[in-house]
Amino acid sequence: MVNYFSSIDAKSKSKSNQKPIPFRNSVFNDGRYFLNQRWVYLVISPRAEGLSIGVNVNPDRYCNFDCIYCEVEGPRPKVAGPCPIHHVSTALENALRLVQENRIHEIPPFRSLPEELLQLKSVTLSGDGEPTLCPNFTELIESVIRLRAGGLFPFFKMVLITNGTGLHLNEVRKGLKYFTLTDEIWVKLDVGTQDEFIIVNRARCSLKEVIQNILLIGKKRPIVIQSLFPESNFRPIDSISINSYVQCLIKLIRNGAQIASVQIYSAHRPASDRQCGHLPLRDLSAIAREINRETGLNTRVF
Ligand code: SF4
Repeated sequence: MVNYFSSIDAKSKSKSNQKPIPFRNSVFNDGRYFLNQRWVYLVISPRAEGLSIGVNVNPDRYCNFDCIYCEVEGPRPKVAGPCPIHHVSTALENALRLVQENRIHEIPPFRSLPEELLQLKSVTLSGDGEPTLCPNFTELIESVIRLRAGGLFPFFKMVLITNGTGLHLNEVRKGLKYFTLTDEIWVKLDVGTQDEFIIVNRARCSLKEVIQNILLIGKKRPIVIQSLFPESNFRPIDSISINSYVQCLIKLIRNGAQIASVQIYSAHRPASDRQCGHLPLRDLSAIAREINRETGLNTRVF
């Protein structure tokens, strides 16, 4: 199959010969296409390696991080309301039917895309805020599981994309029991020190708490680490920062976290902080090689 994405597997150090398809102002690179509602969207995602249906778990945009590179626009209210399960479930069923009936080609941004890019790779629990802070997280997962088990659609993989802060909550642990080993959990880890955590993620919790939660889940099942390295104040990331981040990964591994892979990327869409930019591919590749050399982990650059 043609590789439509510009990812590099640092383990093999091989680079695709294919020219990446331009993604700005398109459905590529996590540009989301909402289907006339706010609960579910379609996206052609390099990290999902194709078409993903995204579930907007936090339409109220609640998140306890305020990352300098955050691409969610608009003000973020402090209190999360419950996710409207019925609306989400109906919207997800409609999106799955659209894919199953091969009608995505009728939507203008998807019209000219090749068939293989429109094969569903996953249903992603993500959206405008932090999904693990959704107060009815379990109910939401149960509604997705019901659709998956109902036999109306081919089996699909679920992917939870999280900043890790709610992984210890009973509500979330209960919901994650429905995850099979086919499903995936992608957890954000951008830095290796509390000082940098404050600068980059501007979170209302400590890095230590996030690490504890990564361990909590990573000891039970393989996880994917998602690491975004922004160019901040137009300065490239320094080797001390990379080293502390790598040491953090090493500690996680030594303490029993099963890390299936590390996704390395940088800011793309316009960020809220105008000083935050995109780190060049050569820098991201160098970081990936360093991680691979020091930890042996499989790394991919996007
Ligand atoms: S964790 Fe995600 S939603 Fe929250 S501020 Fe960071 S990028 Fe934005």
